[in-house]
Amino acid sequence: MGAGAAYHLAQRGIAARNIVLLEKENFFGQGATGRCAGGVRYQFSTAINIKLSLESLPMLERFKDEIGQDVSYKQCGYLLVATNEKDANAFKYNVKLQNKLGVQTQLISGDEVRKRVPLMKFGDALAGTFNQKDGTVDPNSVVMGYIGAAQKMGVKTFPGAEVIGIIVSSDQVEEVQTTIGAIKTRMILNAAGPWSGYISQMAGVHLPVTPLRRQMFTTSPLPEIPNDFPFVIDFARSLYFHREGEGLLIGMSNQNEQPGFEQSVDEDFELINLEAAIERMPLVEKAQRASHWAGLYEVTPDAHPIYGETHVNGFFVCTGFSGHGFMHGPISGKLMAEKILDGKFSSVDVSMLDLKRFEEGRLIQEYNVV
Ligand SMILES: Cc1cc2nc3c(=O)[nH]c(=O)nc-3n(C[C@H](O)[C@H](O)[C@H](O)COP(=O)(O)OP(=O)(O)OC[C@H]3O[C@@H](n4cnc5c(N)ncnc54)[C@H](O)[C@@H]3O)c2cc1C
Repeated sequence: MGAGAAYHLAQRGIAARNIVLLEKENFFGQGATGRCAGGVRYQFSTAINIKLSLESLPMLERFKDEIGQDVSYKQCGYLLVATNEKDANAFKYNVKLQNKLGVQTQLISGDEVRKRVPLMKFGDALAGTFNQKDGTVDPNSVVMGYIGAAQKMGVKTFPGAEVIGIIVSSDQVEEVQTTIGAIKTRMILNAAGPWSGYISQMAGVHLPVTPLRRQMFTTSPLPEIPNDFPFVIDFARSLYFHREGEGLLIGMSNQNEQPGFEQSVDEDFELINLEAAIERMPLVEKAQRASHWAGLYEVTPDAHPIYGETHVNGFFVCTGFSGHGFMHGPISGKLMAEKILDGKFSSVDVSMLDLKRFEEGRLIQEYNVV
């Protein structure tokens, strides 16, 4: 979010040398973005998330032409599988909404699911949804693409600069304090993902964003997996599989995970994930684990992001994407540049996704959370 916003602000022609990108780690992209599954999809249950995808995914398709960096967009399609009536009914509604908004997702039968992924055991599948334009993109290429392009326009980037304090005076941002010095400024964009709640506290702003650990592993090569294997989600179990190199990337959300900043892999849960994966795809038993890691979702109470200003003048936020923020990064950076420079969102009207909605009870629930 930070890299994209810095790029879009500079691209809009504001004196780029006045834009500073701060990162606490020694390299960019070590937060949620660098640890994510790289999935990008149109398949959401709310109009606003579908509209964000309708803008953001084409930006990823054009990324090489516009930003000059290949991001390996693989349109393998997402196959969401329902194994209970509640999800099957929700899928019907979601596909209708997506089709109405111009997204060509198909609703398919349980038999069709079994036909499409014969290597998987989906005897209990009741229905599925499939969109060929969904797929995967390389997260690191997106981050470094934006940063490289922003630097070329004059944006200053400081890895190894942890924000440790924010000075606010008469409800106006005045200064950011970092481990490498202080910067006087009247404008800050908090794009600290899972850590954004903590950063906001420094400015006296409460953000309902909770860090929640999620983890995954990759397997050694499995030559049986066809090239066109889709991104498969066993929806009721939040269990997913997609091709990664010659093997698979497999993840599952632990519904009992407690909020916190822990990013080590929970080995006990990894076993549960592995057993669930083998049950769905016995072939996985033949593979070895190639790598594993954990990262943090930045979760809001309604699984939608928070965009825009706060009660502190000059303190903006762009956070809370609840497990699907990587794919909405490109449009979100553009939207924040519009809000900061023009005072309004033009590309997509996300004004309802403001911070005030939590006080005012205007929550909008997303069903397709993995
Ligand atoms: C395991 C996992 C799988 C996921 N899979 C997907 C997926 O398939 N598709 C998808 O769209 N989304 C996915 N997500 C969600 C996605 O990764 C996030 O929504 C998105 O990356 C958030 O981007 P961000 O820029 O807000 O946060 P981040 O990428 O975390 O960036 C915030 C940055 O702020 C830095 N920072 C924090 N505190 C400070 C400080 N005090 N000073 C300076 N810098 C600081 C951090 O180091 C970090 O680099 C997944 C997330 C996880 C954890």
